[in-house]
Amino acid sequence: MLKVDLKREDFLEYFGSKEEVQTQMNRCKHCDSKLLLTHLPDYGKLSIQETMRCIDCGQLHKKRLHVLN
Ligand SMILES: [Zn+2]
Repeated sequence: MLKVDLKREDFLEYFGSKEEVQTQMNRCKHCDSKLLLTHLPDYGKLSIQETMRCIDCGQLHKKRLHVLN
């Protein structure tokens, strides 16, 4: 399930403008409220854990790992 989300994001980042994708990603899919973005850098693994939580309904959207280099 997580792999499907990652592929969809890659698709959007490639074909959409950065701002468009950013707007879509920062909106709750359930109630359209703004999402709270949290980044937890993990320098040991050279990655960032990204979590988006809806401030209205509390829906936790996704966690991603980005390789920093
Ligand atoms: Zn929501």
